Amino acid sequence: MNQLLQNDLNQLDAILEKTKQQGLSYTHQLNTRPTSTRTIITKKDTLNPEGLGALGALEAFNERLEPLMVASSGPRYWGFVTGGSTPGAIVGDWLATVYDQNTQSENGNGDNSAKIELETIQLLLDLLELPKEYLGGFVTGATMSNFTALAVGRQWLGKQKGIDIAKEGVTPNLKVLTATPHSSALKSLALLGMGSNNFIKIKVLEGNREAIDPVDLEQKIMALEGAPFILISSGGTVNTVDFDDFEAISKLREKYAFWWHIDAAFGGFAACSPSHKHLLKGWEGADSITVDCHKWLNVPYESAVFFIKEKHRKLQVETFQNSNAPYLGDPLENFTYLNFLPENSRRLKALPAWFSLMAYGKNGYRDIVENNIQNALQLGAFVETNPLFEILAPVRLNTVCFSLAGTENQENVNIFLKKLNDTGKVFMTPTVYNGKKGIRAAFVNWRTSAHDIVEVTQLMETLAKA
Ligand SMILES: *Cc1c(COP(=O)(O)O)cnc(C)c1O
Repeated sequence: MNQLLQNDLNQLDAILEKTKQQGLSYTHQLNTRPTSTRTIITKKDTLNPEGLGALGALEAFNERLEPLMVASSGPRYWGFVTGGSTPGAIVGDWLATVYDQNTQSENGNGDNSAKIELETIQLLLDLLELPKEYLGGFVTGATMSNFTALAVGRQWLGKQKGIDIAKEGVTPNLKVLTATPHSSALKSLALLGMGSNNFIKIKVLEGNREAIDPVDLEQKIMALEGAPFILISSGGTVNTVDFDDFEAISKLREKYAFWWHIDAAFGGFAACSPSHKHLLKGWEGADSITVDCHKWLNVPYESAVFFIKEKHRKLQVETFQNSNAPYLGDPLENFTYLNFLPENSRRLKALPAWFSLMAYGKNGYRDIVENNIQNALQLGAFVETNPLFEILAPVRLNTVCFSLAGTENQENVNIFLKKLNDTGKVFMTPTVYNGKKGIRAAFVNWRTSAHDIVEVTQLMETLAKA
């Protein structure tokens, strides 16, 4: 064995102890550590013939790179839709690294850890109150989940036209209908060779809405004259968290054949809130659903799941079959994840989610979700009552979409946001809604408190006055 590796093995206790201390110190400082950094890396490290050993590498990291780490898993990082890591999730994530399984099968093709992944999917279906008719799996994020689901949808579309797209390649004229898709759904269409511009846009409902107008949807369907299509619907749009009417879509489903996909990356967690779960009514009719875990489940990046109806198992295998591996047996009988999703080798991605779900249960997640809804309502109430600001859309769940008051202030919105983010006390992201420059704050972190909102609103007021 190489000498440095041997030394590290001999002092593994000390190495891991030091790493643990560092992790603890970051976690304890999440409340005070800046949410943005101005650190610039001047000198680049080069690969030396001689290594530094693990502790030497840790020193090198701490000297130059550690200051780049912002408090993105802390309570006042409201940009994008950034979750955090519960203590349970950290345990699972550390152990996933230590055990380093290659998660594929449940029946003894070497590693059996897919059993844990399948079990975690069941826990998630319980949490989200979805029927057990879904086969699910873990991927890196909602983008890959959308991609996976839409790939099976594409295979379904081809089948309606008598083409096996997985084998024969993409055929033109595949129809997609959608109203307010997330950019990652369009990116998926690009990757699938279907074209990110190549969709029919359904009208949204009137009055500050981003949800599908079911009447227009039916008209667009009739105009297709029976051609098969994919419907990409939203279980929480990213700007204003608007939900499509899944009951209305279910009714159309009885009349017309289509692949129904729901992107519920974070909105799916409305299922955890007794007061908001009605937003998802009827979603169990979808063929495929995307849910992110590194957002509201509060497990670390990278973690998301797809749910695809079990009845589409054959289509899913056709889409992802690793066909030249006869030693794996019949893919419909010998379950292994590599025939059901894009990756072959993969880590035990489910473990952080398994630990967090076991650790906090249904009530724990209800409390996280309800608390974040309160956070959003509190900020929303401030924005609505303070003359310096204006709300751009009603607070429907956990996101506040707002701007500086007055058209004359439109050019100052991004300057204001930069000043706010530069304080390092809070981080939010810019957006454009209804032609207006706005700011978006999304609440999905388990540590955010009413006190954090007060602190930030005071800061907002001071900066907007200046
Ligand atoms: C965040 C998000 C995505 C993309 O998710 P990633 O985890 O960043 O890949 C897709 N759809 C919606 C609605 C989202 O909020």
